Amino acid sequence: MSAPLPSDPATDPSFHDMLDTRPSLTMDARDGLVFEGVPLHVIAAAVGTPCWITGAETLRRRAKALRAAFEARNLPISMHFAMKSQDHQATLAILRQCGYGVDIVSGGEMQRALHAGIQPSKIVFSGVGKSDAELRAAVEHDIAQVNVESVEELYRLDDIARACGRVARAALRVNPDVDADTHDKISTGRAGDKFGIEHRRAVALYSEAASLKNVRLVGLAVHLGSQMLTAGPFREGYTRLADMVREIRAAGHTVEAVDCGGGLGIRYRDEIAPSPDMLAGVIAETLGDLGVRLSIEPGRWLSAPTGILLSRVIETKAGNPDFVVLDAAMNDLARPSLYESWHGIMPVAPNGLTSPTKLWDIVGPVCESSDIFARDRALPADTKRGDLIALLDTGAYGFVMSSTYNSRPLAAQVLIDNGKWDIIRQPQSVAELIAVETVPEWLTAAGNDHG
Ligand SMILES: *Cc1c(COP(=O)(O)O)cnc(C)c1O
Repeated sequence: MSAPLPSDPATDPSFHDMLDTRPSLTMDARDGLVFEGVPLHVIAAAVGTPCWITGAETLRRRAKALRAAFEARNLPISMHFAMKSQDHQATLAILRQCGYGVDIVSGGEMQRALHAGIQPSKIVFSGVGKSDAELRAAVEHDIAQVNVESVEELYRLDDIARACGRVARAALRVNPDVDADTHDKISTGRAGDKFGIEHRRAVALYSEAASLKNVRLVGLAVHLGSQMLTAGPFREGYTRLADMVREIRAAGHTVEAVDCGGGLGIRYRDEIAPSPDMLAGVIAETLGDLGVRLSIEPGRWLSAPTGILLSRVIETKAGNPDFVVLDAAMNDLARPSLYESWHGIMPVAPNGLTSPTKLWDIVGPVCESSDIFARDRALPADTKRGDLIALLDTGAYGFVMSSTYNSRPLAAQVLIDNGKWDIIRQPQSVAELIAVETVPEWLTAAGNDHG
């Protein structure tokens, strides 16, 4: 589990530590904080703040490293990026070029993935509560596989596929009842979590599903949770999965595919981040000899370190505690208020590394007490209005979770790629927010104004 929101100044990493563990990020004596070769102050001046920055090379490097870990073990596996973590068309284009497919959790994501040129044969559909329309779209596009989350969904998929005159491929998402040892709100594989089919029922259901005419069960899927940091829960979950494959085969059925889900964690603060090699090792050890087609659904591990949320100090507010008020807020980056997550927060100015620091509460301007990014966090003591501040590792569950709360338009997005950079999403305007609203005629009719 990532560290709680109240920072511990005694153990928080220093700015030097943060740089040392992030190869894409450097501090230049003249330009200040530089991400993938581009000074952040240049982007702030041209685009404004707050703004989201994605590093293409970081994404490619991680996509290749993850793949290489499995290749090193001669373990063929398909990679389906969990696009709910970062869903921009440019992100999908980069990962498509790296040979990745996607794991989707909605019809909207399917549309995005198809628009980005991802082949239907590389799309897997997960998620609880898929609507009829979403299932129909999956069947019509003949995507690789629907991971069904319940008996009811399995029968609904069969009905829909029959109406379309198709046979849909499905996997049973099983809930192995493993504690992922992560934050409560991102644990998904325990009994009592809303996800998956109870593992004891799955074997019986597999037999039952064999009689369905318009669904072909290809195998099993799991997703244990997110930000998992140790091998134990992966090993436990995949071992149960392997046992189930053997049981289902013993009952006379074929199991062709096993989808291992996502969940690989990263270092946000001082966590010992698991390596892709650990994951590859555990999968090889538990599932490697079953002769099944393997796949994984990594999200955060690929996308989190690709992102920076760049923000400017609106003002500092002296008191107890002293506050730094940023122009970014919980509507932009929800994770700290939602999960009490710890993000690295760094000054962008070149003297940021050497200035004496003091402890601040770092907050946004939204009218909620939970609009806070960090408590008791070290930033330069002379931090002042106009200074640029970078919130690190915000590439996963960052922009995608933004809202327009407080009528704050969605911020711009920028892509850096090999020293080049461009705006990949214009900042939304308030006019756009208003433009889609209508006021019923009866409210605007003459005689309604008493002012
Ligand atoms: C969210 C999700 C993932 C990705 O999880 P990460 O922790 O970001 O790797 C993978 N599979 C499913 C089904 C998910 O819901």
